[in-house]
Amino acid sequence: MRTPAAQPWAERSAQPTAWTLLAHYLRPQLQRALILGALMLATVGLELSNPQILRAFIDSATQGSTMDRLVTIAIVFLVVALVTQIASVAETYVAENVGLTATNALRADLTLHCLRLDPDFFTTHSPGELIERVDGDVGLLANFFARFVIHVVGNCLLIIGLIALLVQIDWRVGAALAGVVLLGLLTMDRLHRVSVPRWAAARQASAEFFGFLEERLSGTEDIRASGATAYVMRGFYERSRRVIGKDLLAIVVGSIGIQSAGALLTIGGALSIAVGGYLYLSGTITLGSVYLIFAYTQVLTRPIEQITRQMQDLQVANAGLRRVRRLLGERGSLIDGSHELPSGGLSVDLEHVWFGYVAEDPVLRDLSLHLAAGQTLGVLGRTGIGKSTVARLLLRLYDPSIGVIRLGGRDLRTVALTSLRDRVGMVTQEIQLFHASVRDNLSLFDTRVSDARMLTVLAELGLDEWLARLPAGLDSRLAADGAGMSAGEAQLLAFARVFLREPGLVILDEASSRLDPATERRIEQAIDRLLEGRTGIVIAHRLATLERVEQVLILDRQGVAEWGRRADLAADPRSALSALLSTGGQDLLA
Ligand code: ATP
Ligand code: MG
Repeated sequence: MRTPAAQPWAERSAQPTAWTLLAHYLRPQLQRALILGALMLATVGLELSNPQILRAFIDSATQGSTMDRLVTIAIVFLVVALVTQIASVAETYVAENVGLTATNALRADLTLHCLRLDPDFFTTHSPGELIERVDGDVGLLANFFARFVIHVVGNCLLIIGLIALLVQIDWRVGAALAGVVLLGLLTMDRLHRVSVPRWAAARQASAEFFGFLEERLSGTEDIRASGATAYVMRGFYERSRRVIGKDLLAIVVGSIGIQSAGALLTIGGALSIAVGGYLYLSGTITLGSVYLIFAYTQVLTRPIEQITRQMQDLQVANAGLRRVRRLLGERGSLIDGSHELPSGGLSVDLEHVWFGYVAEDPVLRDLSLHLAAGQTLGVLGRTGIGKSTVARLLLRLYDPSIGVIRLGGRDLRTVALTSLRDRVGMVTQEIQLFHASVRDNLSLFDTRVSDARMLTVLAELGLDEWLARLPAGLDSRLAADGAGMSAGEAQLLAFARVFLREPGLVILDEASSRLDPATERRIEQAIDRLLEGRTGIVIAHRLATLERVEQVLILDRQGVAEWGRRADLAADPRSALSALLSTGGQDLLA
């Protein structure tokens, strides 16, 4: 497994060419690539020798040689044919291995690259499209990685060898076939120029199709509930029709290329029989040589076809590569820091923080506050005012446009992201569950967390009954969207995740949906436990939540409407908080 540090492109060249990619991903497999080259040379040699053996057989037979000699030649022929087959199977095995290893490494690098991009990137690129990029486009490169150089070089050698051998028999035969080969390759090249853009268009249509499909499949409940099935299916048909159209066009144009190669070689075959026949009749060459000329013309089909196919694959790979490069060219705007956050509770400082998702439209205006380690802040404000945005800034999913955020006295920009995300635990409004076991959902795939600890935490949160109902305990698989779990259970599970991480700052973005009183009580208790000895920021959608906080921050369109100790604000009849409390928090829940 490659480590993140080995990820090359983010730090170095953003626009690798096909050749730098090839060199980079083949270097670790140099040995295998050399074996592949050796196998290729062996196959070329064997392929050239086979017709030679047949010629010897024909000539021996026509010149009345002994039976023993004929049998010996026949056995040699069989052995060579068998070894050729074995070599070609071995070559396929090694080539596939090299290709898959290289593309998997590239996939890993691309995935890691995507994970480092800003959240904005994911709002403009659908997951389906990214899957198509990381999987589909990279898949197109497999053949290029494994075979391109070796096949093109190997087949060129084969063609040169063939022509050299034919020239040895008679230069006219060699010259005629060299002409045919040249014409064949030129025609191919022309045809490829036409087929490249067709392939690019086909891949794009397919990426769009997957993007559409992914998005719709992840929202099946809403789609069915709103009766939009027919609309979705119409979209599906439209896109799949487009994919079929583009694919067909690309395939037809590509196959015209291959067919013309075939046609040219038929002409070559006819030509070789004519020239060979003429030379035989004029007594210049033997019957075996006539066969040899014909056999070599037939052998020529394969290298020309393969070179053509490789060139076509290169175009396909190039189309994929162009999109892979565009993806690699995307840059995350966050620059990772190097400092660790101190252990224990973390103090929080915001100093004149401004932030907007779009440059001219600030969501947070001049936000300042100080929260000592171990204290708890409640954040209030109407929907869409920027409460969750504050949480996102604290997790450094974005950097403020102006101002500084400090945790434990450290400017967030100087803190290593791994340390930050280790020390800050967040429970978001929408719980993200993975299609994985309960264990992996709790530990977030961190194998250091022991089962015993998970069971304790689940019991503490009152989730033990829920766990007991699952068929396979911690090994039971959860659905990706939390289907099969109640909203309360999903939230408690999210709390359990944070408990297991022992963070120094806990951010709770309360779900705005209402839960039944019993679940709510359990969640309240869980929150109390979670905040013990830690700094807490609670984005409150319920008045009850405010009872445990020391400080209150109320946001409005102008920025901070109110900030202070809860006890002081509640005691002041003119404060916004008192107004809220007296109306029973109707505004709060709007
Ligand atoms: P709620 O109480 O409904 O959870 P909130 O106070 O948490 O609301 P935020 O999620 O912080 O609201 O959003 C603040 C504003 O920023 C909203 O107007 C929202 O439309 C906008 N916004 C949020 N995320 C993005 C984004 N990725 N790109 C652009 N605008 C965004
Ligand atoms: Mg929110």
